[in-house]
Amino acid sequence: MKASLQNIHNEFLESGVQSELHVPLAPLTTYAVGGVAECVVRARSLEDVRSIARIVSQHTHVPVFVLGRGSNVLVADSGFDGIAILVSTPVADTHISVTGNLVEAPASMTMPVLARRSVAANRAGLEWCVGIPGTVGGAVRMNAGGHGAEIVDSLVSATIVSLKSGVESIVPVADLGLHFRGSALSGHHVVVSATFTTTEGTSEEGTQLINEIVSWRRDHQPGGRNAGSVFVNPSPGKGSAGALIDAAGLRGYACGGASVSEKHANFIQATDSATAGDIVAVMKHVQEEVERVHGVRLRSEVHLLGFDSQTADQFADPRHSEPERMSALHHVAHLLGEI
Ligand SMILES: Cc1cc2nc3c(=O)[nH]c(=O)nc-3n(C[C@H](O)[C@H](O)[C@H](O)COP(=O)(O)OP(=O)(O)OC[C@H]3O[C@@H](n4cnc5c(N)ncnc54)[C@H](O)[C@@H]3O)c2cc1C
Repeated sequence: MKASLQNIHNEFLESGVQSELHVPLAPLTTYAVGGVAECVVRARSLEDVRSIARIVSQHTHVPVFVLGRGSNVLVADSGFDGIAILVSTPVADTHISVTGNLVEAPASMTMPVLARRSVAANRAGLEWCVGIPGTVGGAVRMNAGGHGAEIVDSLVSATIVSLKSGVESIVPVADLGLHFRGSALSGHHVVVSATFTTTEGTSEEGTQLINEIVSWRRDHQPGGRNAGSVFVNPSPGKGSAGALIDAAGLRGYACGGASVSEKHANFIQATDSATAGDIVAVMKHVQEEVERVHGVRLRSEVHLLGFDSQTADQFADPRHSEPERMSALHHVAHLLGEI
């Protein structure tokens, strides 16, 4: 694997794609833990994504992972033996384009910047995005949401490049299979841009709403190193994941440098000394205790990167394998020329 990654790395460089070997992933995620990726490439433009797809599609045996701001990812201490494709660029390098009601943003733009730029352009409806510390691409993949809204409410379409087929396509929202904190997009799909529908607004009203959301977040969620909510809410009627964890008396439960937040029971906080192993140990304990006390098995929305399949399966949401979701996956794969 290492020899072929060296060759692929050379191919990236020859195509003008920024590529590095043995890159620590911790600084690229909000948990700030975990080991190195064998190779990290930076997708700074659509051209970069096309070049990366052309190269990667010739080496389908090499694992790939698309990384935005890393605000919903936990990297194993042993790292990732594959290619991490970083779709995240400095704020100054990203711009929205407004055409009538439509706002188009690059996938590498952060959600808070999307919220603020849309408001500055007198567009309303995306203010809630200010609370999501990830990129537009990550938010589409996750169908991120908060404050009574989620991506599926305003997304019109997303431009996706397949790392398997190299095909690039504008996929309408109806074909993306968006559901609670997930979509029909898989690990080999790169969102490069997204178009949202908005309404007319004023920058004064928009700014006020943004300020209210920011202060609500400060009051109700912890700062520091975390990945937001760890567990997905179970089926309706069984209570929120946070309430179940709280009622099981797990606030403050700690293992090494990781602990259940005192401020929000569905957040796990990492200290400077935390390892990914500590965070997973807290997740396992929370899962076991909630199941023992409430009879509900919690699953995680955080993407585990580089972990063994047993650990990944323990937290994977079985709802992802339901027939409706499988048929959405199949549909997207068909649209992108993969099958
Ligand atoms: C403090 C805090 C609060 C949070 N609050 C919320 C909240 O209220 N609501 C909510 O929904 N989430 C919340 N999150 C989680 C997280 O911010 C969202 O899931 C966000 O959408 C992830 O974006 P990202 O760019 O960080 O993606 P990453 O964490 O880098 O990746 C997440 C997933 O998206 C994929 N991905 C990333 N970029 C792309 C791309 N360009 N193309 C294709 N796939 C991609 C990755 O492969 C991975 O599967 C919170 C996180 C934190 C740290």
